[in-house]
Amino acid sequence: MSDCLFCRIVSGAIPAKLVHDDALCVGFLDINPQAPHHALFIPRRHLASMNEATPEDRELLGHLMVAAAKYARDQGFSEPGYRLVMNTNRDAGQTVFHVHLHMLAGRQLAWPPG
Ligand code: 5GP
Ligand code: ZN
Repeated sequence: MSDCLFCRIVSGAIPAKLVHDDALCVGFLDINPQAPHHALFIPRRHLASMNEATPEDRELLGHLMVAAAKYARDQGFSEPGYRLVMNTNRDAGQTVFHVHLHMLAGRQLAWPPG
């Protein structure tokens, strides 16, 4: 069994509140939400961080963005707005080393982020 937390969510070994599921990615609610609505979109295939992304990952990463944007739209966040963000490595605060796209919504989000 994989020792990657998010691979284990993909396989169903660790439960999560799924909000999206397709051939390439899954979306689920963040366990420690940083906004009233906080979901994570991850590729089914393990990719540790954007540091490992190659041109072969273009379709997969584009797919993640479009899936998260559709979810935000379906949840009614198009007009008030939302944020899609990926943290990469230490300075950005990445804690789980399986690529994940955060979708944050439901409050005024500060810029620049902390
Ligand atoms: P990072 O800091 O790496 O960008 O984001 C990791 C995110 O994963 C955090 O927002 C954290 O709350 C979330 N997270 C960590 N462990 C779990 C878990 O077991 N289940 C869920 N649903 N989210 C998790
Ligand atoms: Zn993984």
